[in-house]
Amino acid sequence: MQERKQSKPSRSGNCAHCGGRVQTRTSRELHIHLRTVYLQCQGCGWKGVGELHIKHDLARPCVVNKEALLPLAPAAIFRESLKSAEA
Ligand SMILES: [Zn+2]
Repeated sequence: MQERKQSKPSRSGNCAHCGGRVQTRTSRELHIHLRTVYLQCQGCGWKGVGELHIKHDLARPCVVNKEALLPLAPAAIFRESLKSAEA
């Protein structure tokens, strides 16, 4: 298990309470595709814990670790990722 302090907190969305900016303060690797993330709102001080679970590959990398390969995303997820990238 690796714990990683964020050198620069990354934005993780908006707070469900005040709509403020939520940042990832730290994260811990539980598995190659699963992390526990510790979050904090910059607006109201809310803190929470969640999980980041990588479920599918959207594109294959140019350097492949066979143990890290995931099933390719279904077409609908792939199309949504293209829309998100364009926004
Ligand atoms: Zn908040």
